[in-house]
Amino acid sequence: MAYQIDRNICTGCGACAGNCPVSAIEQKDDKYEINASVCISCGACESTCPVSAISQK
Ligand code: SF4
Ligand code: SF4
Repeated sequence: MAYQIDRNICTGCGACAGNCPVSAIEQKDDKYEINASVCISCGACESTCPVSAISQK
């Protein structure tokens, strides 16, 4: 299962995007989104997010 970013929580800091090994996280408007078709569900982004906006769905 891929990981998802809750847009209501995401502050748009970009920390997660820099830690994704497959560049699955892209900026959209002022927030970030995970491309589920690219995500390998490694979990690296989840522990990176300072506001816990990322979870596995
Ligand atoms: S779980 Fe891993 S592959 Fe998926 S978006 Fe997060 S860092 Fe990238
Ligand atoms: S690390 Fe968290 S708050 Fe920062 S862009 Fe990623 S999901 Fe949003």
